[in-house]
Amino acid sequence: MSKKLSILTTSNPADKEILRTVSLPVDFHGRNKDNYHQIVDQMIKALQCKPYSLGLSAVQIGLLKRIFVINLKTFPKVKKEVLHLSKYSIKNNFLIVINPVILEKSLEKVHFYEGCFSIPNKEILVSRPKRILVSFQDCKQNQISLWLEDGMSIIFQHELDHLDGKLMTDYINLSLQAR
Ligand SMILES: [Zn+2]
Repeated sequence: MSKKLSILTTSNPADKEILRTVSLPVDFHGRNKDNYHQIVDQMIKALQCKPYSLGLSAVQIGLLKRIFVINLKTFPKVKKEVLHLSKYSIKNNFLIVINPVILEKSLEKVHFYEGCFSIPNKEILVSRPKRILVSFQDCKQNQISLWLEDGMSIIFQHELDHLDGKLMTDYINLSLQAR
């Protein structure tokens, strides 16, 4: 049975409700442990059909689990650094991020026009910390910590927001206030 993979968008009220839901941690051990390999494969498949894909969270394909993937095509330096830490966190040139947290944030901010597959044809100027210290698990449950900056920092924060039911549109009023 093959189901066509579609990405949830805010224009559909049922999708929007899911996109606003906080995702649950990935359970590696419990009786109802998650088949995260399958989730990751589904996400990569969904992203590969999209040009200019930077990242995707599981919630965007309707799976409320704390996983996202980031395309490493334009981040060879990060790829090298991550590979040095763990070879189980990269698949098909995508960084697989499971149960992520941000441990530290720089005071310095970067401003960037962000886009989102779940909010088509919209670009929003968002201000975020330039550098972040992140920690997450790879596909073998190893804990990985590293500093990310600029583009990678922005994408990581954007995707982590998805896992908390937040969307880039939430920043519209904040950026107006900051002016
Ligand atoms: Zn998004």
